[in-house]
Amino acid sequence: MFDVIIAGAGVIGGMVARELSRYNLKVCLLEKENDVALGSSKANSGIIHGGFDPEPDTLKAKLNAKGVDLLYAAAKELNVPYENNGSMVLAFGEEEEPKIEELYNRGIKNGIKDMSIISGDEARNLEPMISKEVTKALLVPSAGIICPYSLTLAAVGNAMDNGVELIRNFEVVSIENKNNYVVKSKDGNRVEGKYFINCAGCYSHNIAEMVGDKFYDIIPRSGEYMLLDKTEGKTVSHTIFQVPTEKGKGILVTPTAHGNLLLGPTATETDSPDNKETTQEGLKYVTEFARKSVPNVNTRAVITSFCGVRSSEKSGDFIIEASKKVNNFVHVAAIDSPGLSSCVAIAKYVVDILKNIGLELEENKHFCEIRKDTLAFRKMNHEEKDRFIKQNPAYGRIICRCETVSEGEMLEALKTNPKAMDVDGVKRRTRAGMGRCQGGFCAPYVMELIAKENEIDMTQVTKKGKNSNMLIGKL
Ligand SMILES: Cc1cc2nc3c(=O)[nH]c(=O)nc-3n(C[C@H](O)[C@H](O)[C@H](O)COP(=O)(O)OP(=O)(O)OC[C@H]3O[C@@H](n4cnc5c(N)ncnc54)[C@H](O)[C@@H]3O)c2cc1C
Repeated sequence: MFDVIIAGAGVIGGMVARELSRYNLKVCLLEKENDVALGSSKANSGIIHGGFDPEPDTLKAKLNAKGVDLLYAAAKELNVPYENNGSMVLAFGEEEEPKIEELYNRGIKNGIKDMSIISGDEARNLEPMISKEVTKALLVPSAGIICPYSLTLAAVGNAMDNGVELIRNFEVVSIENKNNYVVKSKDGNRVEGKYFINCAGCYSHNIAEMVGDKFYDIIPRSGEYMLLDKTEGKTVSHTIFQVPTEKGKGILVTPTAHGNLLLGPTATETDSPDNKETTQEGLKYVTEFARKSVPNVNTRAVITSFCGVRSSEKSGDFIIEASKKVNNFVHVAAIDSPGLSSCVAIAKYVVDILKNIGLELEENKHFCEIRKDTLAFRKMNHEEKDRFIKQNPAYGRIICRCETVSEGEMLEALKTNPKAMDVDGVKRRTRAGMGRCQGGFCAPYVMELIAKENEIDMTQVTKKGKNSNMLIGKL
C-alpha cells in the first residue's frame, strides 16, 4: 500500500515525487511509457520564462514568478544543464510598442524585478544579429534556458534515490475509489494507495473521468521546431521573442542549454496528443518568423525538426486543486507554458494541498537533494579524462563522435536511476545520437551495449519501448 500514487512522469510528476521524497512516505510514480519525460516535458522550448507574460493574479502568474529562483536552485542541486541568459521581446514599429509597455506593466504586477524597456539600437548592441526593423525591446535578465528532459530525468532520479518507486509501462486505465485508490493498468497490474495525484499532462482529463470528476477538457496544441547545429549556437545569446499573440508567445530564436540554436514553436490545435508530426507548412512558418527577428539565421544548418504537444485548457490557467467530488485526489492539469519554469513551485504548491487535505508529513532525515553530476566526458579537461580512463577504460572509447560520448557514460546511463532501457533513453541521458549524424553512426553500438548490459538478444532492443524493436533477426 502506497501513501501517495502519482500518475504521469513528466517534469511535474517528477518534481512532485521529489518534493514528497523529503518526507517519510511510500510514494509511487506511474508512467505509461517505457521512460520518463516522453510527453510535453520532452519537446518544448526549454525556456525559464521571466514571468511577465501570464495574466496577473492567475496561478500561472504566481507560480511562474515564484518558480524561477526555485528552478535555478533545483537545477544546481540536480546538476542539470541551464543558463541564466536573459530574454528579449522585440517590437517591430510603433504599432507593437504599446504591447511592450503592457508586458512590462504586467511583469511589475507579477512582481518581476530588473526588467527594462530598451531602444532598438540598445537591443542591437546586445544582439547584433537581430533585425534593423526592431524599434523597442523588453529586456528580462532573470529568464534562462534549461534542458527539459534532463531536468525531468534528474528530478525522477533524485526522487528514486530518496525512496520513490517508478513503475514504467503502467498505463492507468481504471481507478476504483473505495477506502483507498485501487489503480489498474492496461496490462492488468494494480497498485493501491491512500492519495492520488493526477499529473498525466494531455491525458489528465481522462484520469479525472476515471474518478467521476472531469470538469475540464484538455485541448492539445502542437508546436513545431527546427534545431540547428552547434555551429549556430552563438547566433544570439539571449532568448529572442516577438510580441505574443492570442496563439502564444510566438516564434522564438534561442540558444539551447546544450549549445544548439532552436527556432519555433508553432501553435496549432491538434486532434491527438500523440500526433507529433512536423509539417512543411509549420516549418515554413517557423523559418519565416525566425527570419523576421534574425534575418540571417542559417536555417541550412538544421539538424532535426520535432514537435511537442501542449496540454491547454479553455480557462487559460493551470488547474491545480484538490477534487471537490472525491477524497484525497489532486488535479494537476492544463500545465502548458510556463509549466516548466514553474515546476518546482507547482510541486511545493501540490504538497501544501496534500497537507491541507490531511496527508501527514514527517521529515525524511535521510533526504539528499543533490544528484551526482552525470560526468560528460567532453566537458572534462585532459587530466580528468586521463584519470577516468585509467579507472575505467570504457571512458576511452568514444561511441558517439558528433557529441563525443564515451562508452563509460553510456554504461553509467544504463545503471543510474532512472535507468535507460532503450536507445532513445541512452540518447536523452548522454546525448549519443543528438549530434549532426542523429545516431547514424553510434546507434548499433548503443544497441550492443543495451543488449549486453541487460543480457538480452539484440532483437529485443527497442528504440523507445513497446513494439519499436530495431532489428528483426539475422540475414
Ligand atoms: C511546444 C511547447 C513549448 C513549451 N515551452 C515551454 C517553455 O519554454 N517554458 C515553459 O516553462 N514551459 C514550456 N512548455 C510547457 C511545459 O513543457 C509543460 O508545462 C510541462 O512539460 C508539463 O509537464 P507535465 O508533467 O504536466 O506533462 P507531461 O510532460 O506531458 O507528462 C505527463 C506524463 O503522463 C503520462 N501519462 C499520460 N496518461 C497516463 C496514464 N493513463 N497512465 C500513466 N501515465 C500517463 C505521459 O506519458 C507523460 O509522461 C511548452 C510546452 C510545449 C508543448
